[in-house]
Amino acid sequence: MRVIDRLTRSLDPLHGVPEATRQEFACWYRQAKLPQIRYVAFLTMALYLIYAAIEQNVARDNLGLRFVAHGILVPMALLAVGVMSYFEACRRWMLTLLCVAPVCAVVANLAFNRDNPDFAYFLPEIYLNLMWTFTVSGLSLRQGTLTACCSAAVLMAATLGDALQPGAYRLHLIWGLASFSFGLLCAFVLEKAHKIMFLHQSRLALSASVDGLTGLWNRARIDQLFAEEIARAQRYDTPFSVILIDIDHFKQVNDTHGHAVGDAVLRQFARLLRDSVRAVDQVGRLGGEEFLVILPQADVEQASAVARGLQRLVRECEFKTVRHKTASFGITQYHGDESPHGMLDRADRALYRAKANGRDRIEVL
Ligand code: GH3
Ligand code: MG
Ligand code: MG
Repeated sequence: MRVIDRLTRSLDPLHGVPEATRQEFACWYRQAKLPQIRYVAFLTMALYLIYAAIEQNVARDNLGLRFVAHGILVPMALLAVGVMSYFEACRRWMLTLLCVAPVCAVVANLAFNRDNPDFAYFLPEIYLNLMWTFTVSGLSLRQGTLTACCSAAVLMAATLGDALQPGAYRLHLIWGLASFSFGLLCAFVLEKAHKIMFLHQSRLALSASVDGLTGLWNRARIDQLFAEEIARAQRYDTPFSVILIDIDHFKQVNDTHGHAVGDAVLRQFARLLRDSVRAVDQVGRLGGEEFLVILPQADVEQASAVARGLQRLVRECEFKTVRHKTASFGITQYHGDESPHGMLDRADRALYRAKANGRDRIEVL
């Protein structure tokens, strides 16, 4: 079972990760591929215009139709893909066109050239088409494979009979196989590399936001969440509150039992906070033994009720080695049109008052 799991993970680095992460990757990947899709569409359009001009001198029949297909329809389709890449609402149509266009190009090539004696001269466009679909177009591995399989199936069906001499037919098979397999392999390797890169990037982003000792959000992330909450409160005119918490006489823990015990108490305290608030609330460590809880859509009464619950849990908690500790709480609600700094300052003053009034208290400002 473990071998199968490892093998699957080596094929798909996102195997076993939560569905939300997979969706996040899909979203990030689509976005990352957009410039490629855009520039490749414009370049291919220009190359098709040159090809259409050359084809007029080389081909012997269907010159008008060839010009319509390669000089007008294909470039128009590619232009549409390039332009649609600029508009969010057109993304689905853009991808559909990008999947359908290569198959149409193969069908057009076969329709024009299959019964001609110089068919072999026009086949390279199809080999290139397969490679393009897999590696250049900007389609995902799955979309590229689906499109290239359709193109290859049409190609194989059209060349099964006597369209080519037996020797040329064998050469055609090896060129077809080579372009398909190189394309598939490249698309697979590229997508795998992107998945690994995405996972590394996500882990890095998370480690830059998390406090190493407690696993809570760190100061930088809390500042970010705070700013987001203020923006939301201003936009939707909803209340939100914060609770600033400081462990009482924490220095004594270090002085009496040592720094390692102090760290263990901080971890246990952090776990208690995280496990006791709502899923929407954000808990961070501002530094030392000071913590902040952000309570979206909560007014000062609701925040006070939460603080009373936390105060009781802290009092009842049996901390390792030091047994009982207490904490002081400063609460404030967002007033509207104020900076994060102003609100935090008020919470700090409320906390200071709780300390000054004897600790193990909740104060509101
Ligand atoms: P008060 O009730 O007024 O808050 O008193 P206090 O002793 O808790 O406050 P003070 O700010 O004087 O002391 C905080 C102590 O927290 C000082 C510092 O040694 C300790 N501390 C800060 N960060 C850490 C840490 O990461 N680990 C440990 N073990 N101790 C820390
Ligand atoms: Mg303290
Ligand atoms: Mg402190």
